[in-house]
Amino acid sequence: MAQVWKGGPAAAALNAKTTEKVGALMARGIRPTLAILRVGERADDISYENGACRRAETLGIAVLKFTLPQTASQKELEETIYMVNDDPRIHGVLLLRPLPPQMEEERIVSLLAPEKDVDGITDGSLCGVFTGKATGFAPCTAQACMEVLDYYKADCAGKRAVVVGRSLVVGRPAAMLLLQKNATVTLCHTRTEELAARMREGDIVIAAAGRRGLFGAESFREGQIVLDVGIHFDEEGRMCGDVRTAEVSETVKAITPVPGGIGAVTTAVLMSHVAEAAGRAAKM
Ligand code: NAP
Repeated sequence: MAQVWKGGPAAAALNAKTTEKVGALMARGIRPTLAILRVGERADDISYENGACRRAETLGIAVLKFTLPQTASQKELEETIYMVNDDPRIHGVLLLRPLPPQMEEERIVSLLAPEKDVDGITDGSLCGVFTGKATGFAPCTAQACMEVLDYYKADCAGKRAVVVGRSLVVGRPAAMLLLQKNATVTLCHTRTEELAARMREGDIVIAAAGRRGLFGAESFREGQIVLDVGIHFDEEGRMCGDVRTAEVSETVKAITPVPGGIGAVTTAVLMSHVAEAAGRAAKM
């Protein structure tokens, strides 16, 4: 029977490190601070914002909220971005997306200072993921996968890792982070031939295709570590992932559950990035 690698303990371990970093910064008079930028009143955004505020509070991180109306102009949001970029009290910025249709999201994102991009959405952050340099931050979900591998002591060096999905949010940065851990990485997508065979080759498989229950018994073999990044809801409204877990839980070595797996670690990663951003700013 596969081990279930829950995200909660990995998140708790990361939160403990963040609390320590925040305490050290506070002792030097620096309060790590996150700015949350929201345009409009989407229920998803508000719920994410509330969750982030609660988590920040428990870790001693301050939150400044900047809320613009749904009808706000591109210029208004650009001015807000310039303001948070220039404000030395603010160490990290979380821009809730998608933005309303009148806004050019790519341009807005390009204006955000990479050193405050704790969500890993700017080109500067992705450049850092690619080069291994500390410019910006890795996208939180991709980093959450690494935190889970670290917490459960998965040795990646020399292992074959297969990532399914090449988005800039999850698949591609996850592949780069696995490479940094000296895994031999295969990155798969919709044009990959014999996908199930490729997946069976992996010692570590990250399923991030964003297709509910796409992967079952045919895609896995004994001994594999499977990280299921997908977030979906079935007909009964139950949350589920890209992997048909019941089919593979007798076979693989370990699998992350949905819910309670990778998704449970992403906010902890975001907060660790805020503390790190504050630490980097203090060194400058
Ligand atoms: P996305 O932008 O839709 O990208 C999906 C990727 O999967 C694409 O690269 C696509 O290939 C590939 N793909 C789709 N269908 C495939 C198939 N049948 N075979 C092989 N590859 C296939 O999705 P995303 O933003 O990366 O998110 C992926 C999943 O992670 C979603 O379920 C999302 O909800 C979830 N997610 C979870 C968290 C979390 O905190 N746990 C955070 C963010 C996202 P092409 O490039 O060829 O089209």
